[in-house]
Amino acid sequence: MSPSLSALPPAVRAAASGLDRRNFLRICTLAAAAIGLPASAGRAFAEAVAAGRRPSVIWLSFQECTGCTESLLRTTHPALDELILDLISLDYHETLMAASGHLAEEARMASMEENRGKFILVTEGATPLGENGNYCRIGGRTAVDILEEAAEMAGAIIALGSCASFGGLPAAHPNPTGATGTPMVLAGKTVVTIPGCPANPYNFLGTALQYATFGTLPALDELGRPQWAYGRTIHEHCPRRAHFDAGRFAELFGDEGHRQGYCLYKLGCKGPATHANCSVQHFGEVVDAWPIGVGHPCFGCTEQALAFRVPLHATVDIQRPTPPDTYPPLHAEKGEVSPIATGVAGAVVGAVAAGAWMATRKLDEDPDRTGAPGKKAE
Ligand code: SF4
Repeated sequence: MSPSLSALPPAVRAAASGLDRRNFLRICTLAAAAIGLPASAGRAFAEAVAAGRRPSVIWLSFQECTGCTESLLRTTHPALDELILDLISLDYHETLMAASGHLAEEARMASMEENRGKFILVTEGATPLGENGNYCRIGGRTAVDILEEAAEMAGAIIALGSCASFGGLPAAHPNPTGATGTPMVLAGKTVVTIPGCPANPYNFLGTALQYATFGTLPALDELGRPQWAYGRTIHEHCPRRAHFDAGRFAELFGDEGHRQGYCLYKLGCKGPATHANCSVQHFGEVVDAWPIGVGHPCFGCTEQALAFRVPLHATVDIQRPTPPDTYPPLHAEKGEVSPIATGVAGAVVGAVAAGAWMATRKLDEDPDRTGAPGKKAE
């Protein structure tokens, strides 16, 4: 860690160094499990850190609200913030470092030179390209200038949050500053995107640890998102999915269906078209600490084509429909296969089509259905 960050509050540093070996190993194993790696990967994480191979991280903040940093630091799972301070060498972060002004900029340059080709560059926030980039200047230089220089020297680049990934809120119409995401600025370079508003800290941590330990990046989808975290839709793992399958929907905020915890599709839930693991990896290790968990429709913040682009309460088309959970019993009495069971088996074989039909039927049979016409995610 740079001298500037060693000036972090003593309680934080003491806690960071106070992890005993057993607890440290346990947390590394949990981090590995969170990204779908075996327990042996957790031990590899721990051994890499013990051998002094903590990756240098340069964290650039541009057009953002610091929500992603807050999310990272507000985790309550056993000392995740402490883990981060122990596992990575956070050499530049405007919000957390004590140094400021030219001293901070000099420390950043020194660290990037020392770790050229090896450090992890993290961007938080969109980059404005309008008016020659002058909407965001740091230390007398434009954000785009700083980003391009750092990217040339970095070993890996991670765009953290929806703004850094795709432009997010600053890029919403009419986008007066010409804001855009890091991958768009660095066209041609591999940029791992960890979208989310805020991003889930485990998704960042898992990616950073994999790079630090194995020197590799996770498999990415077409938007640069790690497949282990963004490979499935919210709808596929939603705790309200049974209500969707049964045709039970909240129609208004605060109505009986909403109080009963029914599906939020008709209130504009983007879960059926949003790829993310929020429904299984809640924020801050607090049960139900995610939008649908507290009764609000998914906003689609991990999708380039949804968040800040499609109205909050507009409905979306169902992507990859899957069949409902509840079918009649499959097994006939006395070992015979009944006509019903035969029909059900057919429905299972044609599961995708059946799921699509069920969803369409349940939604269409309600004459009072409100909401804008469905929109497809990219
Ligand atoms: Fe959950 Fe939204 Fe799907 Fe309903 S529409 S089951 S609330 S993800």
